[in-house]
Formats: sequence, structure tokens, C-alpha cells
Amino acid sequence: MKACRRCRTINHDKNNPRCIHCNSTDLTNEFSGIVYIIDPEHSEIAKKLQIDTPGEYALRVR
Ligand SMILES: [Zn+2]
Repeated sequence: MKACRRCRTINHDKNNPRCIHCNSTDLTNEFSGIVYIIDPEHSEIAKKLQIDTPGEYALRVR
């Protein structure tokens, strides 16, 4: 799986070169840590990472 450099979304589909969230093709497997954001409005991590949509995100993207 790969993480999007633009929005940090985790993309599981190897055959899809585009991010399922923002449609960017800038995906990388150089990332560490995965967070599940369920309730972005009430999540400190979501605020820190500037995430406003529930989903699976990389903590750090290189
Ligand atoms: Zn993205």
C-alpha cells in the first residue's frame, strides 16, 4: 500500500496510480505510521495533520 504525499491518505489498491481521496498521482511507499481518523472534528491528531475527512492516513510521509 502507498500513502499520498498531498493528503496522506493510505491507498491499498496497487493497480490504481491515483489517490482515492484527492486524485493525486504523487503516491509513495516511503511512509511511517498509520492512523485511523474516525471523527476528525473531535480528533487532536486530525487537527494536527489537517485532516477533515474520516479515513486511514499516514503519520509521516517522506
Ligand atoms: Zn491524496
